[in-house]
Amino acid sequence: IGDWTKIEALTNSLENQSVLIRGRAQAIRAVGKKMAFLVLRENGFTVQCVVQVQPNIVSPQMVKFATALSRESIVDIEGVVSVPNTAIKGATQQVEVQVRKLYCVSRAVPTLPINIEDAARSEIEIEKAIQAGEQLVRVNQDTRLNFRVLDLRTPANQGIFRIQSQVGNAFRQFLLSEGFVEIHTPKLIAGSSEGGAAVFKLDYKGQPACLAQSPQLHKQMSICGDFGRVFEIGAVFRAEDSYTHRHLCEFTGLDVEMEIKKHYSEVMDIVDKLFVAMFDSLNQNCKKDLEAVGRQYPFEPLKYLRQTLRLTYEEGVQMLKDAGTEIEPFGDLNTEAERKLGQLVLQKYGTEFYILHRYPLAVRPFYTMPCYDNQEYSNSFDVFIRGEEIISGAQRIHVPEFLEERAVAKGIDTKTISAYIDSFRYGAPPHGGFGVGLERVVMLFCGLNNIRKTSLYPRDPLRIAP
Ligand code: ATP
Ligand code: MG
Ligand code: MG
Ligand code: MG
Repeated sequence: IGDWTKIEALTNSLENQSVLIRGRAQAIRAVGKKMAFLVLRENGFTVQCVVQVQPNIVSPQMVKFATALSRESIVDIEGVVSVPNTAIKGATQQVEVQVRKLYCVSRAVPTLPINIEDAARSEIEIEKAIQAGEQLVRVNQDTRLNFRVLDLRTPANQGIFRIQSQVGNAFRQFLLSEGFVEIHTPKLIAGSSEGGAAVFKLDYKGQPACLAQSPQLHKQMSICGDFGRVFEIGAVFRAEDSYTHRHLCEFTGLDVEMEIKKHYSEVMDIVDKLFVAMFDSLNQNCKKDLEAVGRQYPFEPLKYLRQTLRLTYEEGVQMLKDAGTEIEPFGDLNTEAERKLGQLVLQKYGTEFYILHRYPLAVRPFYTMPCYDNQEYSNSFDVFIRGEEIISGAQRIHVPEFLEERAVAKGIDTKTISAYIDSFRYGAPPHGGFGVGLERVVMLFCGLNNIRKTSLYPRDPLRIAP
């Protein structure tokens, strides 16, 4: 016997060959005392292994040992590949392994808190099973999260976090190819970066400090440090009070900041090209993962245009008004209005991904540049997938006196951000950028209903474990 063979690679072409495989015992079934079937799983692929008494090769004790294995235990098997006459149900691979040797590498406890097969069922399958009178436990969200390590083994979750990995990968690759530099800003900071109450405060060796609500200040300061175009992938902390489907207390921010030559549309151009490239790469490189997610949580592929639609906030408000929803002209859109506008945009323009820009200045953070032609609006934008915010971005104020004035007007203690404001006193290029929520991108791309599904170990107002 040579190297290990992946379960995925077990096909007809290996007939009669000896293989060595490792997997988890997904199902174990005894047939009398002389035979047992063991379904082994590795990376979403499964194969049926046959343990059958054969003189000098497989003893009755070995069959007994196999039968007594607990589900999810990790097992090594040496055996010979065979091709059965009839199709194999309950395994992805259409060959069997006739077991000659079997080792239990790591034993799982006999009673698991989550049955993986139950946890992997779609809502439709659950309904059907219940109607058919099957005894089954619906695995609720809290149980899944309490025993996340088991929950993560379902095909949908395997897909979700492989997709998440590809989102980060596509983000990084695109930006590097456009001349951006990857940076890492501090997460322990002295003042708040976004204003507002949603900060985690802490004691920093006797000084008041907090966890960064965004890399906002330091990414802008890096532009003043002449990096020209920067990005960061890192943790963002928000002491959110609300318990919603789309807010976490810790999430992963994908952040971009860049010099602007003439107009903040240069920043939106990057958003446009970056996300079209990202969506294309997900559709191309994550087919299997998207299918796995869709099998448990059915969704339609995201509709997006080759060139991303841009509407102004005023146009958006007008579309809502025409459809009977009144919005305060200088207020923000609430979640309901965002969704409604998403539907209207889909009907009119055939896209579920678009940019809304020129937001009212009053609802944007203090560092946002007002429009030159109308100070009630700002050079800022939000970006939506399926009617929900995934990005906020803007041109920033690079004039220190004005920046200070705006911070004071927003009630921010400028002492805590003096180094930030001072950065603009030594010459600062016009610049802008944006922040994306990684978990939200995956949630909305896959049409999922809760951000906890796309966070590996979610932190929300009620949860800080596991
Ligand atoms: P929302 O309006 O949903 O509260 P926000 O406008 O407060 O979001 P920003 O400060 O603009 O959020 O942050 C940039 C991006 O970070 C958002 O567009 C979103 O994708 C993500 N994000 C913000 N807050 C959270 C959160 N609490 N949990 C997960 N992602 C978040
Ligand atoms: Mg918020
Ligand atoms: Mg918002
Ligand atoms: Mg926002």
